[in-house]
Amino acid sequence: MTREQIVIDTSGPPSVPARKVADPRPSLLLGEHSLCPGCGEPVALRLLLEVLQELDIVQRTIGVVGHGCYGSFVRIMDVDVLQCLHGRAPSCATGIKRVRPECAVFTMQGDGDMANEGLQEVLHAAARGEKITCVMLNNGVFGDTGGQLTATTVLGQRTKTSLAGRDAEAHGYPIPVADLVAGLQGSAYVARGAVSTAGGVAQTKRMLRRAFETQLSGAGFSLVEILTMCPTGWFVPAGEGPGYLGGSLEQSYPLGELVT
Ligand code: SF4
Repeated sequence: MTREQIVIDTSGPPSVPARKVADPRPSLLLGEHSLCPGCGEPVALRLLLEVLQELDIVQRTIGVVGHGCYGSFVRIMDVDVLQCLHGRAPSCATGIKRVRPECAVFTMQGDGDMANEGLQEVLHAAARGEKITCVMLNNGVFGDTGGQLTATTVLGQRTKTSLAGRDAEAHGYPIPVADLVAGLQGSAYVARGAVSTAGGVAQTKRMLRRAFETQLSGAGFSLVEILTMCPTGWFVPAGEGPGYLGGSLEQSYPLGELVT
């Protein structure tokens, strides 16, 4: 028996489109994001959507989104969300959860939103032990307004408003949000992950899952801080974002679980 030789013409597009055998995109993701190349925030969004889907809680999930580049995610995520005033997401989430305790309620905020505009909101929500999950995407800059210094900008980090690098004498010290929240009695789960490496992505997904499981168990407040790349605000090429994160933010904000 002779084997028939199969020759595939690759000189042009196939006459019959290839059959898609798998779609790695979570079905809750409705389209492409419009953020900068190399941005870490879409990675965090994907992990969040995967966790909601895997826990099978999509139909009873309500998100509260703050103000930042990630705000545009409301157009591409198939989850009920509302957008609130800058920094106020934990308070809005508190109201939703108290009215609809059967729901899984989360906030998605940046470091500017949570640490600059609304630090008291997240601290009081944690101290009250609200059964919500807050997610802070921390890149150390106000990305959507051009890369200015935030409360979490690490010492030495260049921003539009600290061109020579953050200086403690001039700008004060960075605020470690997860560490502050971890010190409050109402906090039942607090963790800090990063999406700059494959291992970090997997670890961050586990943290998000545990945070939602904590909320669903009624144990108390949960927060996951996620270090995300912002090559535009950091003035580095997109491909250098993960390395920059590892050498800067991650040095000041160690990864791991702070409260379990
Ligand atoms: S400015 Fe930064 S945070 Fe905003 S989309 Fe671009 S890379 Fe992402």
